[in-house]
Amino acid sequence: MSQQGYVAAPPYSQSQPGIGGFGSPNSSLHYGHYGDPNSSYSAPQPSVSKSAVPFGSSAPVGPPPPGAHQLSQTNFQNGPGTPGQQPHRFQGPPPPGNTGASYPPYSPQSQPAFPNAAPASSTAQLADQLNSMQINNYGPGTTPSPGHPASFQSPRLPPPPTQQQMVLPPGPQVPPPPTSSVNGLCAQQSLPPMARQGGIPGPVPPNPNLQQLPGQPPGPGYHPQQANYGPQMAGSQLSYPGAFPGGPGQLSGPQQKKLDPNSIPSPIQVIESDKAARGGQVYATNTRGQVPPLVTTDCVIQDQGHASPRYIRCTTYCFPLTSDMAKQTRIPLAAVIQPFANVPPNETPLYLVNHGETGPIRCNRCKAYMCPFMQFIEGGRRYQCGFCNCINDVPSFFFQHLDHMGRRIDHYERPELSLGSYEYVATLDYCRDKKPPNPPAYIFMIDVSYRNIKSGLVKLICDELKTLLDKLPREEQEESSAIRVGFVTYNKVLHFFNVKSSLAQPQMMVVTDVSEVFVPLLDGFLVDFEESRSVITNLLDQIPELFADTNESETIFAPVIQAGMEALKAAERAGKLFIFHSSLPTAEAPGKLKNRDDKKLLNTDKEKTLFQPQGNCYEALARDCVANGCCVNLFLFPNQYVDVASVGLVTMYTGGTLYKYNNFQLDGDSPQFLSDLRRDMEKKMGFDATMRVRTSTGFRATEFLGAIYMNNTTDVEMAAVDCDKAVTVEFKHDDKLNEDTGALIQCALLYTTVSGQRRIRIHNIGLNCSAQLADVYRTCETDALINFFAKSAFKAILSQPLKTVRDILVNQTAHMLACYKKNCASPATVSQLILPDTMKVLPVYMNCLLKSCVLVGRAEIPTDERAFHRQLVMAMGVADTQLFFYPRLLPIHSLDLKSDAVPAAVRCSEERLSEGGAFLLANGLSMFLWLGASVSPELIQGLFNVPSFAHISTDATSLPDLDNPFSKKLKHILEQLQSQKPYTMKLIIVKQREQPEMLFRQFLVEDKSIYGGASYVDFLVCIHKEISQLLS
Ligand SMILES: [Zn+2]
Repeated sequence: MSQQGYVAAPPYSQSQPGIGGFGSPNSSLHYGHYGDPNSSYSAPQPSVSKSAVPFGSSAPVGPPPPGAHQLSQTNFQNGPGTPGQQPHRFQGPPPPGNTGASYPPYSPQSQPAFPNAAPASSTAQLADQLNSMQINNYGPGTTPSPGHPASFQSPRLPPPPTQQQMVLPPGPQVPPPPTSSVNGLCAQQSLPPMARQGGIPGPVPPNPNLQQLPGQPPGPGYHPQQANYGPQMAGSQLSYPGAFPGGPGQLSGPQQKKLDPNSIPSPIQVIESDKAARGGQVYATNTRGQVPPLVTTDCVIQDQGHASPRYIRCTTYCFPLTSDMAKQTRIPLAAVIQPFANVPPNETPLYLVNHGETGPIRCNRCKAYMCPFMQFIEGGRRYQCGFCNCINDVPSFFFQHLDHMGRRIDHYERPELSLGSYEYVATLDYCRDKKPPNPPAYIFMIDVSYRNIKSGLVKLICDELKTLLDKLPREEQEESSAIRVGFVTYNKVLHFFNVKSSLAQPQMMVVTDVSEVFVPLLDGFLVDFEESRSVITNLLDQIPELFADTNESETIFAPVIQAGMEALKAAERAGKLFIFHSSLPTAEAPGKLKNRDDKKLLNTDKEKTLFQPQGNCYEALARDCVANGCCVNLFLFPNQYVDVASVGLVTMYTGGTLYKYNNFQLDGDSPQFLSDLRRDMEKKMGFDATMRVRTSTGFRATEFLGAIYMNNTTDVEMAAVDCDKAVTVEFKHDDKLNEDTGALIQCALLYTTVSGQRRIRIHNIGLNCSAQLADVYRTCETDALINFFAKSAFKAILSQPLKTVRDILVNQTAHMLACYKKNCASPATVSQLILPDTMKVLPVYMNCLLKSCVLVGRAEIPTDERAFHRQLVMAMGVADTQLFFYPRLLPIHSLDLKSDAVPAAVRCSEERLSEGGAFLLANGLSMFLWLGASVSPELIQGLFNVPSFAHISTDATSLPDLDNPFSKKLKHILEQLQSQKPYTMKLIIVKQREQPEMLFRQFLVEDKSIYGGASYVDFLVCIHKEISQLLS
């Protein structure tokens, strides 16, 4: 028992301040883009506040309207400018829109400027991209021409035949806002005084664009109005404040009429039209700067030289040429990299390149890896690096002749010459201490305090592990997993178990000194499951018995992680801890926590402290874990505050996953937990990883957002990385880019496989560059933008007041759109809200982000829930953030039982529900089945096997398995929704007008939130106002 040799170096309670670098409050966590950090948004500067910016005689400066306070009156600054520089906003290249045709239309003819041919699918894409959205504010002066109060238009080209058009119901038929509706009343009160805007001149002339589209049939594909889901419930509750009397004296124009929610850009329409245009097709990545299908569109991806969008998605696929242009647009330039993303079975897995002892071929100067961006010259004897332009010799073993095109004749035989993604076998130079790594180990650490024993959780875990351990990940060619396993239980003390195969019985060793944890055994702790199967089974049978009579309710936590990490370190293995924990660790030990949840801090400058860890113990521990390749997975079963911000910190920084089951009940919650555990255990992942992102000259990676740890400014350290984790990387210019060579990005991830092989995974992607702002906007991807904004904001709340962070988001949205309107839209659209086609749903998604519980502090929302959501989002890829912020709402009462497809979604608004309908809603974390009060008895019988609505139990967390086509179809849809999602969604059944409905309504994200967030319509009005102010 005196194996002090395994004791950790300095006890982590003595960590040295300053090493952490985890974004302590005083570190430079400035938020905002293209600004000098020293003059960024951290402090309000009244001199540059909006109220000081003249924007017309009608500018009302006063308290913001109720309910919209977070959306206006924000400080605003473009780049490092000073107040005096404000008038220079938007200066730059002359706006092409003024001349109408100063830049060529983005047509296939203009594409040969790039080395590769345009993809076959680009034509349809171009038509889409040419359209920009327009919402005109029509007043009484405008004949409310039925059907065309809003339209899509192309500013410079006649509308293509496939032009999209949103059709409104005829004006007079729009029902008046129901006065009894709480939402309707609130919406009216909270509406910004749209009609008083300085940016909107008097009578709005009839929009000439509307006349271009007389009687055009509705656009292709999805049509929101055609959603025939029974009678609409609430009518158009959301309207312009047409009923507001008068307004201030300067209001000479007419008042605004209703803005029908159907007329504003619909995320569903965008998703469905991309599906219609590109779904089911092969998408080949053969063209630099090509915009991939949306993340919601299913297609087959073929790597032809650039990384699949499953691995890398960008906020824009065309970078502005200069830093001035970038500052002007305020579009964040970022890539969301998911290096281990799952690929479906019908796509090719990554090739493995093995150069033996020589190792990968790399540029001598910048160390970039051989890839399709290297240009072979001098008959193939040398190559020029695409990243730093350095000329390198080709190693003799790698020499190959060039063909008449200057391409190596083995181009297609070598993945590293022709593919966007591939792997290299690493040499010993890439290993710790130049020794080949051992296969990783998984350590299961179970909280055996009173509550977990009594609830049956401990027994559940032990029983499950007996079968689950057979499913440890392994290499495809190997028969069994190389991963070692170990077991620890704990309450106030730690129990280690010796499960060596030669033992007849497992042996327990208790470590009571938790202030300086040491590992009491090495031999027999981390074992091969196959070899030790009987001893392990024996142990798992015994654990619940062993602690059956415990009275211990206090637990430790940090020493548990410390023990796991020390055990891995002693065994010289990377690995993953599976910690099953329930309570606030209040036992006397390092990392002891007190309940510091204080609702009084909400909406104060101190609110940010709720998201910061208590003390520095956990930060220091996280750093040690990363340094030793120890990933910490945490399964939390709290029934009160457990301080997620502190206990989850190590999980976050080590690339682990945090699962949380509030008020865990064995009956209802076991399926969800066991499914999560199973999936996590089987995940393909990389251990002990370091990621480096290299770029071609002129720009570089400046910010990394994710479940990662940064030891310096360039190396992203990850104790482990799995298929669901994504790192969002922001880029900034440091010079002018080059239109010919584009902007090239190479992500190299060094890691250890599940079998202990050291490899380097490479993902390459090439983007275009342009001096035309319109090119940048045309290739934006809103889903990636939201991923970036969410992570960026959720990081910023550690150091800045939440209101500041929300204000910045609103401002940046307005700024991006204002720049487009000013520079890329037709000048005839002065008073209109013009949205680039690629960003037409940015406002609705941005509003969803602003309304998320992380950014909106309300006493009703538990602090742990907010910290939990924050942590999840920080690690998410683009598909996950898209679904998380804009849930999928599926009508299931009118299922096509013959089709295998998931039905088209409808917009997340109460208006889309109907009393006779049934709807499924999922956001990747929660799932609801909402049942209208008059849903048909046949449907109820088919789904629940009960005769009527009243008989449905809302306690169930799953649907019964029934032998009828409807039930089977719905089960299939549930599986589809769940597949590829990192978290198992527990099904919550909600009956209309019964208690849990309030919970469900939070997810109707287009409506005004019960927690005060603006409705989509209100937010759009607010953004329009902000844009008008920016441009006035
Ligand atoms: Zn280079």
